[in-house]
Amino acid sequence: MKRLISSQDVMTAARGHEDIYVDENTIVTAQALDVAKEHGVAVLDKSGRHDHAAHEATQEEGCGRHDTKDAEPVFSADELEHLISAAFAKGIWTQDDIEPLLGKRDSTIDPDVVPVGISGRHIHLSQHDLDRLFGTGYQLTPLKDLSQPGQFAAQECVTLAGPNGVIERVRVLGPVRSQTQIEVLAGDTFRLGIPQAVRLSGHLEGTPGVTVVGPKGSVTLEEGVIVAARHIHMNPAQAAERGFYDGEVVSLKVEGDRGGQLDNVIIRVTKSGNLDCHIDTEEANALHIKCGSTLRVVR
Ligand SMILES: [Zn+2]
Repeated sequence: MKRLISSQDVMTAARGHEDIYVDENTIVTAQALDVAKEHGVAVLDKSGRHDHAAHEATQEEGCGRHDTKDAEPVFSADELEHLISAAFAKGIWTQDDIEPLLGKRDSTIDPDVVPVGISGRHIHLSQHDLDRLFGTGYQLTPLKDLSQPGQFAAQECVTLAGPNGVIERVRVLGPVRSQTQIEVLAGDTFRLGIPQAVRLSGHLEGTPGVTVVGPKGSVTLEEGVIVAARHIHMNPAQAAERGFYDGEVVSLKVEGDRGGQLDNVIIRVTKSGNLDCHIDTEEANALHIKCGSTLRVVR
């Protein structure tokens, strides 16, 4: 990953009477180089040789590093401005990412502490199934936004019917998806009389089906019922900042009277993701985890 040296980093180094070490992955801003020169901070490559020389013989006379030469900054101020504008336009950086970098907000994050969101049973519908359950061309009515951008809980509810029993008032989540997916609790599978398939969202091959009943009709699904695998959502910037990768399997350490560890938690990095750990109400109840609290990741 690229590292950016700003003038603020140089000032920190100057205050600590330290030098700055760079390698081929380090970008030093033009302003940082100027400030380094002004404050007598040496910018050296990892071998200790001057890279972006900024060190005029000043108070560090005698340290053996006054072989100054002026080097070109990696990016000019214009190029940096262009890069930053492009990063905003492409959604790579948001105001939330930038403000800590500019020192406008505390950037001291613990990469292993994640917020937790607790899911109850719910259903994601395809437009095709929504039409059959609620009427042709039906549109969901948003009730509450969810932690993942664009996702919402809808006012609509359905009933699930399996060979052993029914579960009423199952919340529909929007927007509609290409395939209907039902996320139930492990206990629900006994009530419905269907097998348990622990899966990540979207991995529905070979999962059990169920009958879904709405106000205008019903749909019998061949597959689509899962017990959601524990997962942590994040976007690429959050993954990079915290050192996670998509598909990584981690654990969660839970403190407290009913503390314990949850294993097989899957990291999901998506452009539209936002940092949030998703477990279901059974898991949360078993370990006394409250919605909106934070958990510690064990890698
Ligand atoms: Zn999720």
